[in-house]
Amino acid sequence: MSNPLLDFSALPRFDDIRPEHVAPAIRQLIDENRALIAELVADPAPPTWANFVTPMTEEGERLGRAWGIVGHLHSVMDVPEWREAYNAMLPEVSSFYAEVGQNLELFEKYRLLHDSAEYDMLSPARQRIIDHELRDFRLSGAELPDADKPRFKEIQEEQSALAAKFSENLLDATNAHAEWIEDEAELAGLPDDAIAAARAAAERDGKPGWKFTLQMPAYLPVMQYADNRELRARMYRAYATRASEQGRPELDNGPLIGRILALRAEEAKMLGYRNFAEVSLVPKMAETPEEVLAFLRELATKAKPFAERDLAELQAFARTELDLDPLEPWDIGYASEKLRQARYAFSDQEVKQYFPEPKVLEGLFGVIRTLYGVDIVADTAPLWDPGAHFFRIDRDGATLGHFYLDLHARETKRGGAWMDSARSRYVGPRGTQTPVAYLVCNFPGPVGGKPPTFTHDDVLTLFHECGHGLHHLLTQVDDLAVSGIHGVEWDAVELPSQFMENFCWEWDVLCGMTSHVDTGAPLPRELFDKMIAAKNFQSGMQTVRQLEFSMFDLRLHSEVDASAGPVPIERVMELLDEVRREVAVMIPPPWHRFPHSFSHIFAGGYGAGYYSYKWAEVLSADAFSAFEEAGAGKGTLLDRETGERFWREILAVGGSRPALESFRAFRGREPRVDALLRHNGMVSA
Ligand SMILES: [Zn+2]
Repeated sequence: MSNPLLDFSALPRFDDIRPEHVAPAIRQLIDENRALIAELVADPAPPTWANFVTPMTEEGERLGRAWGIVGHLHSVMDVPEWREAYNAMLPEVSSFYAEVGQNLELFEKYRLLHDSAEYDMLSPARQRIIDHELRDFRLSGAELPDADKPRFKEIQEEQSALAAKFSENLLDATNAHAEWIEDEAELAGLPDDAIAAARAAAERDGKPGWKFTLQMPAYLPVMQYADNRELRARMYRAYATRASEQGRPELDNGPLIGRILALRAEEAKMLGYRNFAEVSLVPKMAETPEEVLAFLRELATKAKPFAERDLAELQAFARTELDLDPLEPWDIGYASEKLRQARYAFSDQEVKQYFPEPKVLEGLFGVIRTLYGVDIVADTAPLWDPGAHFFRIDRDGATLGHFYLDLHARETKRGGAWMDSARSRYVGPRGTQTPVAYLVCNFPGPVGGKPPTFTHDDVLTLFHECGHGLHHLLTQVDDLAVSGIHGVEWDAVELPSQFMENFCWEWDVLCGMTSHVDTGAPLPRELFDKMIAAKNFQSGMQTVRQLEFSMFDLRLHSEVDASAGPVPIERVMELLDEVRREVAVMIPPPWHRFPHSFSHIFAGGYGAGYYSYKWAEVLSADAFSAFEEAGAGKGTLLDRETGERFWREILAVGGSRPALESFRAFRGREPRVDALLRHNGMVSA
């Protein structure tokens, strides 16, 4: 066994694995998988769990694990050799998985197993794995009559091309416009770094003055800080009409939207659904478009009075303090920033002094220990960087799993924060495999002997990713495809992560993980109160805005008839107006073209799924409120009994049963929106 990527006996051998190991190992594993699949589909014996699913799982896991290591190293050690090794194999790996997804003989095997007598004897988790396989094959057109398959494929390909074009148009339109300022007086109010960036942008074009593009880092400071109302108005209009009929015709996304909607409707019809929203919801926790719409409407009804209050407050402030009357859409960001500073300002830098890394980690591990009765112990394993760490989770002397923790930003590390699986819990013919997770963040590292300190945002990020990690590590499911985070519905996956964030807004919990980096003093209560107030600033307005996008997306894919061909853009705008009349408090001007830049739903994977942001927030807030109820009067909400129940009903079961069932089992009832509203400060006085 000379190639360490092919050694599955223990943890990844990060000290031995080199870029040159990638191609031979991954090719060998793909070949082995192909050979196994060929052998299985040629086997005339009826498929059983033991003769079909088990070998598929084991062989697939080896490839998944090895490729996972390569992907991980590519993300945390993005040097040219690793990038090259990863990119060289990516097309082969992708095409192998695409080939498996289209293999109708495999589909037939799963179908036979589903219809066999054995199916009824299998555990619900195993039945669910087979159901998921069949569902995915069906959604990719496996069950269509042969005559319809070429058209289905055409629809998929045109949709991909349109999505790519939508993004390109938006990017080109964003880059097509710039505002030039020649008189320095017109820059009043802007922060120095924004001015310097605008000057540098002009310089790159070899011109005098300042150039403001529509890219976020240039656009946002103008809308928030520029005293120059004309400049704000011009940039607002340019930004709001990007990729529309008001700009260059070849960059107009309007016709693309109409065409995408028609293709999605056609796809839905071929698959036997009434509309695309129904297709989108098949692998999700929400069951029907009507259910999602009712959810959004309930939240809207409750949030709108607070949004109206936010707006009235802002208008009054703008009128009396800023002489802006009436308040125009291009004044909102500007006036809001002034109001925020006047009422709720605090310094992130000041807060940061109270969160030294060791204290935060101790606090985080303490929360986990108290809630679940587990110990987190430093352990050793081969690592990819001396700054990374490795931990073990034990309970009553037994090891439940391990995780890597790589907190600090490095030049060769991909940005952002994430949790990924290095290995998943699985009980197979060779015994029990415990789960292993990667937790990766990009926080600043130590400078000059002092421990690194975290902003409160960093602390939230760490808790968030750790929530995903616990979902993966505390699983008790034995079947790989639904253990840990595997097989969890798309709109339920953020429940355990957002749930953990809530603890960072609890005074008792948060205070315990603070210690001023110089004095050792805990976070002052007064500063914490300001942080809470700032968090809830304009939460009503922000909520109805998210609801406007969600409702527009859902109704567009369920109510607008696209069966007769491309939908005229007028119909799309009409629906948006209707949604705004129902939920919005600030109605944009008639020339505003929001849909033309709504990439999430037209170029990303969020079509009829934008609601899932709020959905997951509601679930996690409502789950957290069980701890608030249990802790009431006890002085702490780190309630062990409730923690055990959360573990048992949510974390332990992973994707082995529907998320709604898990939620009901934990909470004893259906999800309610009240906790989220309360956490966002939307409570009637
Ligand atoms: Zn997340």
